[in-house]
Amino acid sequence: MPSLRHVVIVGAGRAGASAAAALRAEGFDGSIRLVGDESLPPYERPPLSKAVLAGTAAAGAQQVLAPDFYREQHVELLLGQAASAVDLSARCVELAGGARLSYDHLILATGARARRLPPDLDPERRALALRDAADATRLAAALASPRCRHVIVVGGGVIGLEVAAAARAAGRAVTVVEAGPRIMGRVLPAALAPLLKQEHERHGVRILEAVHPRRLTVREAATSTVDADVAPVRLDLGDGSAIVGDLVVAGIGAVPQTALAQAAGLHCDDGILVDEFGATSDPAVSAVGDAARFLHPTFGRALRVESWQHAQRHAAAVARHIAGQREPGQREPYVDVPWMWSEQFGLELQAAGLLDDGDESVVRTSADGSVTTVFALRGGALRGVAALGPDGKIGRDVRVAQLMMERGVKVAAAALADPDVRMKSLMSSAPPAAPNRDAVA
Ligand code: FAD
Ligand code: ADP
Repeated sequence: MPSLRHVVIVGAGRAGASAAAALRAEGFDGSIRLVGDESLPPYERPPLSKAVLAGTAAAGAQQVLAPDFYREQHVELLLGQAASAVDLSARCVELAGGARLSYDHLILATGARARRLPPDLDPERRALALRDAADATRLAAALASPRCRHVIVVGGGVIGLEVAAAARAAGRAVTVVEAGPRIMGRVLPAALAPLLKQEHERHGVRILEAVHPRRLTVREAATSTVDADVAPVRLDLGDGSAIVGDLVVAGIGAVPQTALAQAAGLHCDDGILVDEFGATSDPAVSAVGDAARFLHPTFGRALRVESWQHAQRHAAAVARHIAGQREPGQREPYVDVPWMWSEQFGLELQAAGLLDDGDESVVRTSADGSVTTVFALRGGALRGVAALGPDGKIGRDVRVAQLMMERGVKVAAAALADPDVRMKSLMSSAPPAAPNRDAVA
């Protein structure tokens, strides 16, 4: 194998930083250059829609790695610099400022960006998005404005509902407009979505489902430059009705940042395509985190996962392969079962695995009725789990379910549904199921 001396990482988010840390932890002592187009060192995004909007944390304050890490571990941080091109044959990354960085291995950790409302729907670009620290600072200021009385949230997914909860906590009226048949269609199974909806409604959030926004119109220009995002607006809906409000936030999904990879000629399809070791169509280039669509051996299909835990674990696993320079036969594929969480109104939700991958759905309700867990089973093996309940009460069972998926444990539906049967006791109750490889593309 060619010797590895120079690694360039493009994208200084959780995945990029985690890749750098894992390379050093694995003993790689060559040069590492971490290039990020934001001005802040790698920071955590989950607080942006939680503590930052609640006003209890500053955007970008929670860093992914200890601030001293980069100096102590000789990782060169190139911030505020966008990578504009990759030359695969010359093994070189070009920065927007003109500098060229040579690499033996390139890791693309370019993440995702917030999808924006189309220009014909929002011609004046009034709707705010929430993806980075600057977005969060801007949104927090708008929510705090005394002129902000009614917030319209377009999209009832994770970001939209966390924004809705924060806006309600700030005392604003909130209407959520979800185009799909139900909220949280990407993350929650049908049995859980109504429970979360009820919780929002109990706190005064108005939720409209299966309604399509048609046009956003500014009714009056903002008079203040201090809170210029807050101004009377009207959102016309497909059913002929309209909502008037003072602030519009769009939480309509994230789009993987593949432009750089695509222009370089790497294979992309709703993500940079990688194998179970993180390698792209060029073996000298890997892709990790939100930007990558990777082959998952357990689920037998390519997945793109937008989650905090995955960003770290995927990047670390791929970096270990790169630093370890192992021969193909010695390498272990990345098999972590994806997991995510969200918090809304003191309720926690967690989801792991694939909820659309089952042929059987099982609901388990805790004896006190406060926790509802939904399992997806395929051929008796657990494929997905989602749970909703008070903060701190759902994590343990979801973790056990995640382990069962990782180990391919088969389980009886009746036992899963029975809240008196401890989840942990099901771990060893049946022989492991064979991993599903039949659907590998
Ligand atoms: P990113 O965090 O998107 O980082 C990619 C970085 O690369 C960015 O800084 C980007 O600007 C930079 N970049 C892109 N292109 C270039 C280029 N050409 N040159 C230089 N730099 C470039 N997950 C959970 O599990 N639970 C949660 O509660 C949760 N809450 C969230 C709340 C918010 C508001 C957001 C936005 C996400 C949340 N997530 C949550 C998801 C989680 O934060 C992401 O999955 C994770 O940040 C992905 O990390 P990443 O490093 O792959 O990508
Ligand atoms: P995010 O992580 O940004 O919250 P999700 O995929 O969890 O992304 O949720 C996005 C939600 O936005 C989905 O429920 C989707 O149906 C909804 N959505 C997408 N486009 C529109 C639109 N134009 N109007 C209203 N809702 C939309």
